[in-house]
Amino acid sequence: MNYTTKEIAEITHSQLIGNESLFVKSLAYDSRIIFSTLETAFIAINSFKNSGEKYINEAIEKGVSIIISAHQIFEHPNITWIITENTTEFLQKLAKHHFENSHLKSIGITGSNGKTIVKEWLYQCLWNEFVTVKSPKSFNSQIGLPLSLLQIEKKHELGIFEVGISKPGEMAILENIFSPEIGILTHIGTAHSINFKSEEEIITEKLKLFKDSKTIIFNGDNDLVFKLMNEKYADKNLISFGSKSRNDYHLTTDWKNVNKEIEVENDLEQFTFPVKNRTEATVLNGLCIIATLRHLDFKISEIIPKLNAIKSVEMRLESVEGTRNNLIINDSFNLDVDSLQIAYQFIKEYKKPNKILILTDIIDVKEKPEILYSYVAKLTIEQNFNQIFLVGSEIIEYSDLFSNEVYTFKTTEELIDNQLINKIENSIILLKGARKFEIDRLKLTLELQKHDTVLEVNLNNMLHNINVHKSLLKPETKMMAMVKAHSYGLGGFEIAEFLQHHLIDYLGVAFVDEGIDLRKKGITVPIMVMNPEQQSYNGIIDFNLEPEIYSFRVLKQFVEKLQQKGIDGKYPVHIKLETGMHRLGFKTEEIEELIEQIKLNNLEVKTIFSHLSSADDLEQKDYTLKQIETFKINSDKIIAALNYPIVRHILNSSGIVNYFDHQFDMVRIGIGMVGISPNPKIQKQLKPAVSLKTVISQINEILPGESVGYNRNFIPNVKTKIATIPVGYADGIPRLIGNGIGKVGINKTLKPIVGNVCMDMMMIELDDLPAKEGDEVIIFNDNPSLQDFANYCKTIPYEVLTSISRRVKRIYIKD
Ligand SMILES: *Cc1c(COP(=O)(O)O)cnc(C)c1O
Repeated sequence: MNYTTKEIAEITHSQLIGNESLFVKSLAYDSRIIFSTLETAFIAINSFKNSGEKYINEAIEKGVSIIISAHQIFEHPNITWIITENTTEFLQKLAKHHFENSHLKSIGITGSNGKTIVKEWLYQCLWNEFVTVKSPKSFNSQIGLPLSLLQIEKKHELGIFEVGISKPGEMAILENIFSPEIGILTHIGTAHSINFKSEEEIITEKLKLFKDSKTIIFNGDNDLVFKLMNEKYADKNLISFGSKSRNDYHLTTDWKNVNKEIEVENDLEQFTFPVKNRTEATVLNGLCIIATLRHLDFKISEIIPKLNAIKSVEMRLESVEGTRNNLIINDSFNLDVDSLQIAYQFIKEYKKPNKILILTDIIDVKEKPEILYSYVAKLTIEQNFNQIFLVGSEIIEYSDLFSNEVYTFKTTEELIDNQLINKIENSIILLKGARKFEIDRLKLTLELQKHDTVLEVNLNNMLHNINVHKSLLKPETKMMAMVKAHSYGLGGFEIAEFLQHHLIDYLGVAFVDEGIDLRKKGITVPIMVMNPEQQSYNGIIDFNLEPEIYSFRVLKQFVEKLQQKGIDGKYPVHIKLETGMHRLGFKTEEIEELIEQIKLNNLEVKTIFSHLSSADDLEQKDYTLKQIETFKINSDKIIAALNYPIVRHILNSSGIVNYFDHQFDMVRIGIGMVGISPNPKIQKQLKPAVSLKTVISQINEILPGESVGYNRNFIPNVKTKIATIPVGYADGIPRLIGNGIGKVGINKTLKPIVGNVCMDMMMIELDDLPAKEGDEVIIFNDNPSLQDFANYCKTIPYEVLTSISRRVKRIYIKD
């Protein structure tokens, strides 16, 4: 987009205060990831829980001088304000105007699954045919879609946008701003179904997107989709694809029975297409691409090479510890301007003194190199890298456009051989390379020597799991994330920082040192400390932590400390009530005295809470309801006596799932973030956020009568193959799961641990499973799941995670 402030105010019927002729080329809605302040306006979006206006100051500090908001929160000669009652509607109005005045061919993709993949694949197939714009990642919501549409520029010939909804009524709003010429409906599943009464309601809602489309390309395997589509949109050009033969593009064989090629036919032609990593979903997504490209008049002979060239959409950014206290962000899966911008945003979240960029030629782009690289240079300059390493014969021609220290290399080898790279320290290093340059090889030089065994935390899945829990709650209910014991062993700071970034309301830790550690690393969210030990009260106060007060002893001692430090009361504390767990807390008969003490000492009670002993066990429902009842009565008494608003909370993760009627004002999520739930229906919607994995060190053939491991506990009767993997009880694998009790996943198959588990290794019987040294071994993730693994160990997921020893490297993945 490119509008003046005056034009924007006119288009959106807003009030303009300040300069009428400033240009706005982009909108920032998150002050933490303002990515360029040039010709950028900050839009303060209010959500249920958060007022965007809180972040206006931060945006201005970063250099933004145009603010779009519901209020002019102060006057300043250099700040221009665009005042609008509702900033979300403002955004939608502006996007609608912008889209209606653009002249590109548009594709809109909706469905329950596969939207992002289909969008990314189409983009990969079409970006060197048309100048193409697309929604970044899965940016498809009520705010994401308008922001995506606003990226359309004059030069664009094609736009591919994803449209996601989670509640009835949302599609009508989105359809009003964006009516694609070509509509695509991918797979319809049951995700998000909580908010919909029936499958028919979901489908009907999604179909609204296509109201003004000329052509609809849809997965026609679902009977209801097929029927509704043909009833509602009989007058449009309908093109269906799927496994069933009624579809225009269908498979002639069951996808499971074909080897490397899938045979497809439609009315006129029959052809085969190759599929790598075949699953039903990838085959159907492939069919969707074929149907779309055929509709755009590409020949089959042109489509096949495009399908072959499709890269994995994973494009995920890996962050790995490097040598010399560096942090390496590796994104060498894909390189285009879009993914470069995403990577720039991503590294803003890290606070390291130095920033280094390693960037290669950008290939396969339709734009002229001069234009492309001057744009890339402009984006890059704004990031203030301390050093920039450019690799490739094309980009180095434009090295003058980049600022600061710039070094140029024709090839990746030249860079690897250069000593400069070994001098980098205390820095965040962003590796961004087109695949051809195999910039990955640099990782070997830069990465900390590490074991093959890693505990990988997928932060996106964690966020997904939080959102699944949130969807059960009222929008205004707050959420505390329990990050005690290093976030259940996953890494306290990394998780806390991610949650802080995603606006968690509160964090909970067990001990003061955990809280201090988070504060020292820059966590600013309120933190509740559940076990404030007497010696640690200084730390609590100095680091602005909030103690749990669970007895008169703690109350008295903490108040004494406050007085000693010259703080007369009004210190935020959390009151713990005993309701049936019999662990910590004030009992019913102590409430009167408690109220008196709080008043007397002028404490500020931020929250009152209690903990359920058996929220995961519906057989204990009566007991749990009794606990909740006691909590309600006793907390009511305190609130009535103190006469100011106090937040109440009692539900943990399984409480959220089983007792959401009793959510009070806040809930405390823990194990649910990791992807564990007592309710099978919810469990199905969660995604595993943790994976313990390693690789095969060696494979041996064992003859009948030969033995494996200490004490010769495994002796096969027939010839078999054994894999040795480098993980043992010193890594936190209990010795009791040896001798056939536990299993691990190799090439998607479960195989038993045989013989005794050793300190640093264990042996797996492969039998005749095709596997080779270096293959990945899943100790737990999806199969076996964390719950399966806990079952082998005769314990619970909590203990499994907190037992994984320190020497196992934690790595964090996010898109
Ligand atoms: C750990 C903890 C939680 C979180 O429990 P989950 O079962 O992991 O959801 C909640 N409240 C308190 C007081 C806790 O100690």
